[in-house]
Amino acid sequence: MHRSELTIDLRALRRNVRRLLDVSEGAELWAVVKADGYGHGAGDVARASLEAGATALCVATVVEGTSLRSAGLREPRIVVLGPTEDEELRSAREARLELAVGSSPIPSGVSVHLKLDTGMGRFGFQRLPDPPENAVGLMSHLATADSDRAFAEEQLAGFRAAVAAYPGITRHVANSAAALGLRASRLDAVRCGVALYGLSPFDRDPAADGLEPVLSWRSRIARAFQLQPGESTGYGRRFVAERPTWIGIVPVGYGDGFRRDLTETDVIVAGCRRRAVGTVSMDSFAVELDEELPVGEPVTLVGEGLLVEEHARVAGTINYEIVCGIDSRPERAQRRLVGA
Ligand SMILES: *Cc1c(COP(=O)(O)O)cnc(C)c1O
Repeated sequence: MHRSELTIDLRALRRNVRRLLDVSEGAELWAVVKADGYGHGAGDVARASLEAGATALCVATVVEGTSLRSAGLREPRIVVLGPTEDEELRSAREARLELAVGSSPIPSGVSVHLKLDTGMGRFGFQRLPDPPENAVGLMSHLATADSDRAFAEEQLAGFRAAVAAYPGITRHVANSAAALGLRASRLDAVRCGVALYGLSPFDRDPAADGLEPVLSWRSRIARAFQLQPGESTGYGRRFVAERPTWIGIVPVGYGDGFRRDLTETDVIVAGCRRRAVGTVSMDSFAVELDEELPVGEPVTLVGEGLLVEEHARVAGTINYEIVCGIDSRPERAQRRLVGA
């Protein structure tokens, strides 16, 4: 038995891509597959996104871009969104990556997207320089597309004013939240990450935006036993039974990405919602059962209607951080593709 199994449903991913293309009304869709495709597997999700109509891939680093090339994605456009070190320019040129550039000097011999800081306050030119010959894009990034529409519109207006003099160059600012919620931001291309994976950029049920989760995560009960009143499970004795209590041990822990702050979150055991109890360990956690169940009983950590968004709320974080933290290496989990 594997400790846990991650299933990546590429059919759901393709439906999400088509949904995003629909709402983007003519803008190109660029698939953001940084951080190993938000934990889903960059190569697989890149391929499926392109099949469904995405026209470019976006990554955070030059190494992420060259890895996609090595994985066989030789043709598609790959845009590196993060800053590039001088030492990386050579491999970026060799791999025909396109680079977001937000400060001088603007490198030559490689296609660049000039990045204007319109209010994110992170990377980007404060004032847009004249685009050189090798500029193929003009871009900015929105700080509040999911939370403060007025500020996002201010950023967008600043961007439009700055790029008005260069109408021939592709303009792009929208992330998932903007592509779904701020029509005027779509411009020539939208850069969608989280929504591709069927996760909500608005911390709500992704179905509200017509999106379907792509990842599900399952394990099994590895041991079941009854605690007597006064007995406890796990480090620190943070769960002490008050009455005879059946406990199941699930062989997944924070070393797999089931974070320590997920104590008290729900999982699904044999079809019923049950509560994780006690301290999550590195390699296992406990779940409270209401009856004796056999070893091997299925446990769903994500899927069957149990959303990453629910875990994020319990952990006081966002869905992005939960999926990026899941360890899908074969040392920890078995990864299964559906619809490859
Ligand atoms: C990560 C990233 C995106 C994608 O954001 P989502 O909210 O996941 O859609 C878009 N643009 C830039 C510059 C990014 O860094």
